Amino acid sequence: MKTHTPLAQLEQNDNFARRHIGPCSEETKAMLTKVGADSLEDLIQQTVPSSILLAEDVVAGHQLSEVAALQELKAIAAKNTVNKSYIGMGYYGTNVPNVILRNVFENPGWYTAYTPYQPEIAQGRLEALLNFQTMTCDLTGMDLASASLLDEATAAAEAMAMCKRVSKNKKCDNFFIADSVHPQVADVMIERAEHFGFTILRGPAETAPEHDLFGAVLQYPGTNGDVTDISDIIAAIQAKKGVVAVGSDLLALTRIKSPAELGADMAFGSSQRFGVPMGYGGPHAAFFASCDKHKRSMPGRIIGVSKDTHGKPALRMAMQTREQHIRREKANSNICTAQVLLANMAGFYATYHGPQGLKDIAKRVNRFTDLLAAGVVKGGLSLVNNTWFDTITVKLDNELLDNKEKVVTRALAAGINFRLDTDHQVGISIDETITQADLATLFDVLLGDNHGISIDALEAELAATGSTSIPASVERESEFLTHPVFNSHHSETEMMRYIKSLENKDLALNHSMISLGSCTMKLNAVAEMIPVTWPEFSNMHPFCPADQAVGYKVMIDLLEDWLVTITGYDSICMQPNSGAQGEYAGLLAIHKYHESRGDSHRNICLIPSSAHGTNPASAQMAGLKVVVTKCDENGNVDVADLREKAEELKDNLSCIMITYPSTHGVYEETIKEICQIIHDNGGQVYMDGANMNAQVGLTSPGSMGSDVSHLNLHKTFAIPHGGGGPGMGPIGVKAHLAPFVAGHSVADTGKESRNNGAVSAAQFGSASILPITWMYINMLGTDGLKASTQTAILNANYLAQNLDPLFPVLYKGRNDRVAHECIIDLRPLKEATGISESDVAKRLMDYGFHAPTMSFPVAGTLMIEPTESESKAELDRFIEAMTGIRAEIAKVESGEWTAEQSPLHNAPHTLADIVDANWDRAYDRETAVYPAPYVKKDKFWPKVNRIDDVYGDRNLFCSCPPIEAYND
Ligand SMILES: *Cc1c(COP(=O)(O)O)cnc(C)c1O
Repeated sequence: MKTHTPLAQLEQNDNFARRHIGPCSEETKAMLTKVGADSLEDLIQQTVPSSILLAEDVVAGHQLSEVAALQELKAIAAKNTVNKSYIGMGYYGTNVPNVILRNVFENPGWYTAYTPYQPEIAQGRLEALLNFQTMTCDLTGMDLASASLLDEATAAAEAMAMCKRVSKNKKCDNFFIADSVHPQVADVMIERAEHFGFTILRGPAETAPEHDLFGAVLQYPGTNGDVTDISDIIAAIQAKKGVVAVGSDLLALTRIKSPAELGADMAFGSSQRFGVPMGYGGPHAAFFASCDKHKRSMPGRIIGVSKDTHGKPALRMAMQTREQHIRREKANSNICTAQVLLANMAGFYATYHGPQGLKDIAKRVNRFTDLLAAGVVKGGLSLVNNTWFDTITVKLDNELLDNKEKVVTRALAAGINFRLDTDHQVGISIDETITQADLATLFDVLLGDNHGISIDALEAELAATGSTSIPASVERESEFLTHPVFNSHHSETEMMRYIKSLENKDLALNHSMISLGSCTMKLNAVAEMIPVTWPEFSNMHPFCPADQAVGYKVMIDLLEDWLVTITGYDSICMQPNSGAQGEYAGLLAIHKYHESRGDSHRNICLIPSSAHGTNPASAQMAGLKVVVTKCDENGNVDVADLREKAEELKDNLSCIMITYPSTHGVYEETIKEICQIIHDNGGQVYMDGANMNAQVGLTSPGSMGSDVSHLNLHKTFAIPHGGGGPGMGPIGVKAHLAPFVAGHSVADTGKESRNNGAVSAAQFGSASILPITWMYINMLGTDGLKASTQTAILNANYLAQNLDPLFPVLYKGRNDRVAHECIIDLRPLKEATGISESDVAKRLMDYGFHAPTMSFPVAGTLMIEPTESESKAELDRFIEAMTGIRAEIAKVESGEWTAEQSPLHNAPHTLADIVDANWDRAYDRETAVYPAPYVKKDKFWPKVNRIDDVYGDRNLFCSCPPIEAYND
């Protein structure tokens, strides 16, 4: 008789954890044997200090199958009401070109890539980012643009900070924010200004020159829609040594003079409406541009053109490649993760439409606005603004004609949202999705029955009189997007192939393991990604009425509950849209807490020397003074030194920022003691949560005594890195800090802290990627989450065990175990042979791998984090590669090759290298490009040779180079 498998067990086979976790049970067994543990539990007992192991399971998620989890989320999403949004304020409807939607947004070749720290295998996204920068430069008229900031509001705050850096009015701390700036943008600036010690002045833009200022932010077009010539105001501010940043709109800039033409020093804004869905607030890329003389003061990453060893143009991150790690509290900003995927999409949108296509869209938007304004006035209403590009503000204060309430009731009945945040007015922003039918509905809603307005008649009148909505003095005459890249890919076939050709240049997770330590490059499962593009999530305006966003609320509330259990905190704040923003937000909560207790003088932040560079950069932004504490020779925090400093500085101690497990990849035994020391001296503990992948289900920051942490949802919680963003960095806090986390002035966060200042433009940051984490937790559930952490630790120890004989593992914890990552030391070999960590990183490309994290946290090392998603087979392939590389180094040791002759020094190798008839290397072509047997089966070809960093920084060039540059 056949054996009967119980139904429960058959159902269990549908378990998502089996798909998420790389090693199958046989592989796990073999690996446990190799590392010398009886079981996963045994390994954990050996590795994690018992003092911090949780006694009970962390209950989170429901362990649903992919199908069931998608069904549950679909039902939640259906609770959202997707109205047509005319709210504007920096968020507009857009038609995402489907060729970009499918080939970029929904394509793991693009969304699973990492920040291009290894540029030779990232030329595709570097080119896409260069297009974004070129587009930004062209439309703003500025010399230099960055490769995206987090959102419009944080970009404005960065502009303010940069004004201070470059202003010649050194002694002045006054900064002016014009009334024409979007309210949520002003809020983030005001919050930042407080901690920088700036005084904010407000008023109509034209009053700015009355003040003594180091800088000012103006908005053009203004938040109520008006388009005025601000060049005189800019000049007057500059005449008094003030620096001027102008917030603007990319689509408007195709029709109106650029900020540079008006004399501005900087320009910023959101690129969302260039083909990126509103997503209830994000993610989208902010653009930022400035003039050449301020280039060293720019925030965020800039892509530059350099050359490779054959003198061919090749792209890389310029200057600030690792700015925070190098400059720490002196860094220009704390921006690490940015919005690369969305910047790429916006750049592709410009590539696909081209200058004429964009002008046509802008003309249509402006025409609809002209018609809307004409009809509204004809219908008896009046406007606040008499110039506009796409936005009108309608007065509804005349009881005889109508009133706001009636209009809003009709609008909601018609499925329409207007901007409602000013009394007796509604704001209406037109976008590219608006049709004539929409316009007709708008008239019905605004003017009521029997208004008698005919679009055809309005159109005929407008044709006769001509439009005056854009004043002649600011009409744009200068060209933009003249580079061939913006004029060659207008058919879908061409566009699809262009995107594919760039994708082919990049190594992403869909090719091989990316073992970047501290970055947690795990699986981003398709089932997690699918909900992101559901219209119920993606087409929501962040400032829509709360009763339309019920689905979002349910989803976010559930996610918060799960994250509360996982972290051991009491409350979650979803606003920060990157890890570094979470650090800033958490430090502000600490500061406000101290303030509430009459301790506003507490301003010292202790940071161990091993900390990630964003920690000191964020502390500086929060107005704190950084005091560095030592690490001992085992890489642990030197507790004696810490205690001494905490006691010495106890009167002014604000907090410690500490990473756990340490950036050195070990579980420090003393963590609870460290938390106690800080608390005993009046400070708070900020635990950097980037390494949560070593904690989930086993221990938690809250249980160890920490007060606040950010969570990199784009590391541990499965949001993909997008080639350098998006991310989400919500913070978890203990109850005493909950009243002090970020609030929002335009939208209600539903929390007791709702009236506090904001750290992001939108109340829930990049809300539309939260479904990824929701799905991740709900599919893995209690057991799967724990098994993931256990396996991440197993995988790291398996690599450590195998690599240690080749390259010594630098730091180990109890029982010689590492946590979820390990550092291998290349310094002794470099000393002996001249082969550097960089040579090894580049040679790994020939073997088909992305290098681990290089020279962080220790120079001359590689930090390897395999994550639970990699199978034993993949780990073995990586070991095979590292074994091959070690053998190559041995040949340099033995004198068979000099370092310069070795394939390591000449790596990576391109196809062009081996078809070169003048091959004259000390090794053969096969060694160059097929260094291991597995490579022959699936060769990844780096498209350029090693890139010259120094040349690129000396000859900074940050927009698309002329096509001829690529010809021989
Ligand atoms: C990634 C990381 C951060 C910064 O997170 P971003 O999202 O890139 O801003 C901070 N600390 C550590 C230890 C990290 O690994």
